[in-house]
Amino acid sequence: MTDQHKTVNIDIRQDLFGANEDAAALNATLFKEHGITVIDIMGSVGTGKTQLIETLCETLREQYKILMIAGDLATNIDADRVGSHDVDTVQINTGTACHLDARMIRVALNDIDLSKYDLIFIENVGNLICPAGYSLGADMKIVVVSVTEGPYMIRKHPLTIKRADMIVINKIDLAEVLEFDVDALVKDIREVDANLSVHKVSSKTGMGIPELIKTLGL
Ligand code: MG
Ligand code: ZN
Repeated sequence: MTDQHKTVNIDIRQDLFGANEDAAALNATLFKEHGITVIDIMGSVGTGKTQLIETLCETLREQYKILMIAGDLATNIDADRVGSHDVDTVQINTGTACHLDARMIRVALNDIDLSKYDLIFIENVGNLICPAGYSLGADMKIVVVSVTEGPYMIRKHPLTIKRADMIVINKIDLAEVLEFDVDALVKDIREVDANLSVHKVSSKTGMGIPELIKTLGL
């Protein structure tokens, strides 16, 4: 009788990402079944993700039944802000996790009647490093950067930019007073992905928002 010896090397990272991709595909199917457009919005703390969502909700809420899913370590601040615009919200407090993953989205939507909605904005946890690595099943990943973050945002996060479907440069109304070189930032984006959709907006003044909405096909 011979013993069987088997060695399995598990790449935990690979396995985690693989499991997440499977869960994301399930989410995507669920969203498609309900005819919901889902937009995953990523960006560092303070780039204006929440304000962008508030502005989009103000413009779109007559036309679409919107649900906002907020990912945050511990607070409900962002969900409360968006909720004040007559939009339904789901808060996911991730505790120690610095990003949302597909399973969290699934669990959060467990008792939600998705037939009520046709547009979902997901505000990811505020950082630009790992959220882009975890698909949630969204139709589109938007990365929000802003002119208040200094000139190296793009160059320091090339992978995140590569995985994005669109870059929104927010707070464009402050560029001049901060002497921020927006063209140089756009050039950095182009160096990572020459064809990536880039929108310069001010969520505060509304500048660039109609063009953004048009590109989103909403
Ligand atoms: Mg926020
Ligand atoms: Zn993370």
